[in-house]
Amino acid sequence: MNTDVHIPNPAEVLRQFWGYDSFLPLQEPAIGSVLVGRDSVVVLPTGGGKSLCFQVPAMCLPGMAVVVSPLISLMKDQVDALRSNGIPAACVNSTLSYQERMRVADEVRSGRLKLLYAAPERLLMERTIEFLQQSNVSFIAIDEAHCVSEWGHDFRPDYRQLRVLKDAFPEIGIHAYTATATERVRADIVEQLNLQDAEMLVGSFDRPNLIYKFQRRNNGLAQMREVIDRHSGESGIVYCISRRKVDETAAALSEEGYRALPYHAGMPDDARRRNQESFINEKCDIIVATVAFGMGIDKSNVRYVIHAEMPKSLEAYQQESGRAGRDGLEADCCLFYTGGDYNTWSRLLNQNGELQAREASLDSLGVMYDICTGVTCRHRAIVQHFGQELSSENCNACDVCLGEVELVDDPLVVAQKILSCVVRLEQRFGGDYTAQVLKGSQEQRVLDNGHDALSTYGLLSDETARTIRDWIEQLVAQGFLERYGEFNQLQVSQRGRLVLNGEGTPRLSKPRKAAKKSKSKVASESWEGVDRGLFEELRILRRDLAEEQQVPAYVVFNDATLRDIARRRPTTEAGFLDVRGVGEKKSRDYGEQFLSAVSEYCRDNGVATDM
Ligand code: ADP
Repeated sequence: MNTDVHIPNPAEVLRQFWGYDSFLPLQEPAIGSVLVGRDSVVVLPTGGGKSLCFQVPAMCLPGMAVVVSPLISLMKDQVDALRSNGIPAACVNSTLSYQERMRVADEVRSGRLKLLYAAPERLLMERTIEFLQQSNVSFIAIDEAHCVSEWGHDFRPDYRQLRVLKDAFPEIGIHAYTATATERVRADIVEQLNLQDAEMLVGSFDRPNLIYKFQRRNNGLAQMREVIDRHSGESGIVYCISRRKVDETAAALSEEGYRALPYHAGMPDDARRRNQESFINEKCDIIVATVAFGMGIDKSNVRYVIHAEMPKSLEAYQQESGRAGRDGLEADCCLFYTGGDYNTWSRLLNQNGELQAREASLDSLGVMYDICTGVTCRHRAIVQHFGQELSSENCNACDVCLGEVELVDDPLVVAQKILSCVVRLEQRFGGDYTAQVLKGSQEQRVLDNGHDALSTYGLLSDETARTIRDWIEQLVAQGFLERYGEFNQLQVSQRGRLVLNGEGTPRLSKPRKAAKKSKSKVASESWEGVDRGLFEELRILRRDLAEEQQVPAYVVFNDATLRDIARRRPTTEAGFLDVRGVGEKKSRDYGEQFLSAVSEYCRDNGVATDM
């Protein structure tokens, strides 16, 4: 690195180009490793601000940074977003014409570009590498770096070839960025990219602005509507397991007047692309999709993600729910599950793969289901799964901590009744049947088996069979009961035996009543002082501007910035520059329009300005 050149201060660059006055956790050390030229691996959750970890130092260092990115659609949005902040950036990929490629090459030669995004297959062409070796490349950033690893969820053979970069550019730092958490993947990234003495920076996997709520599904559509109605006019994603369910749900929502569109791999390419674009450009509010949707969606203001059915693993859940609230503002993540979802997945997972892979995927499915039925803090359960701890006792952002899950007063007694019923049934029956016996059901099967004569028959007759069934699941999740065999028969575990002896502390939740109006702390704080009417007006202005410039709305400003404008209500240029997310270029480009929208609204509505 050339030490004679004055390197601008990262904090100053952050303020001038992005309009932010402080760094998010780990951004500073991550930028530091780029500036000193030490290879690094940076693991931050979605929304953690990974892009700035390489974009800021690209602006500080002389020369041009090369960013490897797997998704062409995302590349274009990132370049648009950079340019809207006044940063010279470009991309090269297979969609460019010969002329366009030549124009980019000219820009590189002129030394004006600060960031060049490239798809791996384009970058790895011999002549591209030779061309870049002649250019002043400051460092190489590899985005979505988990794609190099077979252990990750999105292995791409092209990414494997990136190993040659270390030899082709021995003098400069190579930096890998990912949201994928597992240690195995991290180690594999270092190994596959041949990184030297790499600094490993791993952030917290917790997403405190996501509000998790996991509920058993009884009337799926009504439960979904309850969430959607709370977010009228805002963007949300609904995930379903099957294509058929996607089509049905999208149709049902449309019929009820919601602006919802389907997305799955069975649709023709152009229809799928159209629907995705409508969602990004806010022409529709809701996208109903299978897991096929999401990669390459950089939309920062997704305000809720609903899982109409349970996903197959916590890793998948973290990925999918993680698409909510990338702007750091509160977002709802609601998951509706049933035991039937568990069975659907285990059938699907049993159909393919090697025995070992099948077993591993069934284990992951079990973990997901146990967390759904469990009654521990959802944030805690998720970070613990990824080997971290949550610092605070109460996350204030999940159904358990918000007190929406009421606990049974005497869980030990209830658990003992259930466990002894399992013993009386000689540990030969499944959850549904056991619940029927405890309920005191007159079902023929129960009578034929003579189980109405058991001492535990009807022991919980005051409860509904569904509640009893739920408790059985909760006892399984907490390890007091175990499932075995082809029909998921129940048996009492070692821990369960202790409960029968009056020891142990099971936790059981009461049936959920109508959702209480509990407000999470993240939600109330981010709206504090915001004039909602003005915020809505600004959203319209943003949409119009985005349409005019043919960029996604969030490239103009994200929701956090709009809320800050509606909170501060500036009427001067200086006041506008103080808004979080307004840098110098955006202030010049949009200042006038936003300032006059604020003045007009505040005058008409008698609202105070310049707060
Ligand atoms: P990731 O790639 O890790 O998902 P992004 O780089 O897309 O995250 O950033 C997520 C959001 O956070 C973006 O809206 C971005 O503008 C915002 N952001 C990034 N850094 C900061 C910061 N230092 N202060 C405030 N907001 C930030």
